Amino acid sequence: MADTIDKNSQERVDETPCNILLVDDNPQNLRLLIAILSMRGYKVRPAPSGAIALESALSTPPDIILLDIMMPEMDGYEVCQKLKENELTSSVPVIFISAMDAVADKVKAFEMGAVDYITKPFQAEEILARVNTHLSLRRTQRLLEEEIERRKASEEILKVISMKYQKMATQDYLTGVSNRRYFMERAEEELSRANRYTHPLTFMMMDIDHFKRINDTYGHQAGDQILKNVANICVDTLRVHDLFGRIGGEEFSAMLPETTLNEALVVAERIRKAIEDAEWEIDGKKVCCTLSIGMSQLNDNSETLDNLMKKADEALYLAKSSGRNCIK
Ligand code: GH3
Ligand code: MG
Ligand code: MG
Repeated sequence: MADTIDKNSQERVDETPCNILLVDDNPQNLRLLIAILSMRGYKVRPAPSGAIALESALSTPPDIILLDIMMPEMDGYEVCQKLKENELTSSVPVIFISAMDAVADKVKAFEMGAVDYITKPFQAEEILARVNTHLSLRRTQRLLEEEIERRKASEEILKVISMKYQKMATQDYLTGVSNRRYFMERAEEELSRANRYTHPLTFMMMDIDHFKRINDTYGHQAGDQILKNVANICVDTLRVHDLFGRIGGEEFSAMLPETTLNEALVVAERIRKAIEDAEWEIDGKKVCCTLSIGMSQLNDNSETLDNLMKKADEALYLAKSSGRNCIK
């Protein structure tokens, strides 16, 4: 047994000291196993009973457990079951070492969660070979689990970064509504749908009146706040299927699918009125503003976005020249 070990054939794969718990009620067996395993540099802990083994395993979970089956009070099966039930020890590999060599005993051992079964009388070579194999399997499994965790973490980080990029690419940094590029992209899609099915569609150009004056009077920061407030009112007033975006400094656009000019006029008037009625307190001062709106509608099924915007722009110019705070 211990004296039959061929030192060259059973060298350990890994030199980190592994912690082995040996459980056997027979002191002679324990001594023998300690001799075999400590010779290979393993740190061994003997436990002469199931109860002591459980206590020892729970206080410091070992890397592997060699477990006798026939023991008084608590047999190896019960010890194994309790180890597997506990989160702290459930993944520690258990090798049964038993004089019972019936197939049914072995099957039961594997059913209890054992990774291997060695019959007594055992050979030192076999003990070392099996312990080495299971320790190296366990190490590989751990490395794999760590790698999976690492990959999961990097996937999460990538997801957050990609969401941030997506936001940056589509949102206006100040107001959080669609930026010009994204608005135009979506507007082209809506327009081609409306053209294909000859459905009604309306376009709105909105521009805050005398915004330069607001900036000059209350400061640029107050101006920024007004831009956010105006954008919020527009978003709240429009329907979820309407497109809305900031397309310039104090200019916003909306596209209303499935909406005739007359229907859109009602929405535009609601927006104009809501902004006219709003009064914000910025730095202790009451600030308000008005909005001019120019509108255009899809007339035939070959109209381009450029054309639709140009018509709305002309209407906006008319609104400005007719005294502002109105819809054309
Ligand atoms: P009008 O009624 O004819 O539209 O007059 P206006 O003063 O609103 O138009 P104008 O084009 O002369 O001025 C627009 C102003 O909007 C000037 C510019 O400094 C300001 N502006 C553009 N972008 C921003 C911004 O992000 N924040 C702030 N605070 N101001 C901005
Ligand atoms: Mg303006
Ligand atoms: Mg302008």
